[in-house]
Amino acid sequence: MNNFEQLGLNESLLSAISDLGFENPSEIQVKAIPLLLEKNTDIVALAQTGTGKTAAFGFPLIQKIDLSKKNTQALILSPTRELCLQIANEIKQYAKYVKGLHTVAIYGGASITEQAREIKRGANIIVATPGRMQDMINRGMVNIKDIEYCVLDEADEMLNMGFYDDITAILADTPEEKNIWLFSATMPAEVASIAREFMKTPEEITVGHKNQASTNVSHEFYLVGGRDRYLALKRLADANPDIFSVVFCRTKRDTQAIAEKLIEDGYNAAALHGDLSQAQRDAVMKSFRGKQIQMLVATDVAARGIDVDDITHVINYQLPDEIETYTHRSGRTGRAGKSGTSMVIITKSELRKIGQIERIIKTKFEEKPIPSGIEICE
Ligand code: ADP
Ligand code: MG
Repeated sequence: MNNFEQLGLNESLLSAISDLGFENPSEIQVKAIPLLLEKNTDIVALAQTGTGKTAAFGFPLIQKIDLSKKNTQALILSPTRELCLQIANEIKQYAKYVKGLHTVAIYGGASITEQAREIKRGANIIVATPGRMQDMINRGMVNIKDIEYCVLDEADEMLNMGFYDDITAILADTPEEKNIWLFSATMPAEVASIAREFMKTPEEITVGHKNQASTNVSHEFYLVGGRDRYLALKRLADANPDIFSVVFCRTKRDTQAIAEKLIEDGYNAAALHGDLSQAQRDAVMKSFRGKQIQMLVATDVAARGIDVDDITHVINYQLPDEIETYTHRSGRTGRAGKSGTSMVIITKSELRKIGQIERIIKTKFEEKPIPSGIEICE
């Protein structure tokens, strides 16, 4: 199927698509549109940024709205005010030949009473940031009793921005029978957790190779006794004085503790995790980009937004719970044609995980001894 006619879209949508100048559907559109039109199903759709995800959910959503009813049937959650406006505008363009479909965007930083008034006038589709949506639900300004479709757009970014509680509260308030359409570029642990908790055996579609590992990265592991993890980290840093790295920990608490210890021990380190305020996170990222920080100790979720080219080392202080996350971590280095090293500090009891990762990334690890004289292995 490589044209829009074959995907099952109606005439109004096809005319709008032709006006937009879209010639052929993108891969995610080919996979998602017929599925969403034909089945009432939950879906997890993974595709990189810029692959046309908005239309992949927008077209079938518009076609599924029952225009004989004036109520709110669909809710699209999106991470930022800009994205909300952008999605609402795109939906309006897609639906330009669909008479009587109303789409309203709600987001923070603008008058809530004005937005409530707009919803009252009729909104078949609401596009909202999780924070403002939750606020309006609490104030009784919006009725989500009849929601049939809930789209989580850029789910990884929303969670990365700390919206987990808002999203789960909103989902808990919507009817049990609705469908959830989750769109994301990646599948970090928090996204998987939302899927597990709120979705009913979702269909999964993926575009591209989500676990494709960069060939510019060499993978090493360092076997240590459980109590020697931190010492090993310091040795690795000492052996690489020009290190510019992200150090991954499993929890926010460990992330904070390891960063504090490193700072105390005289290393150029800082913590990045979801318990910091947005301003604090911005400040940390600014220093890291400016190379004032050599070791950024981070959780997987907080590190999702990091796109820094010259990272020399990724250090897995602890392996992630979900082995697939390793690909994301190691992908922080070896970018833009440069080479990089991904190191894993590991204890004997976790050793089998190395084999599991090797099978996923289709690359072998090299076992290396902890640098410097003192033997700290068991
Ligand atoms: P994503 O959400 O995957 O990052 P978007 O939905 O924002 O991607 O789409 C990226 C750009 O591609 C937008 O400008 C959109 O209008 C355009 N686009 C989407 N689908 C098509 C298509 N089938 N043909 C041409 N352009 C498209
Ligand atoms: Mg998008």
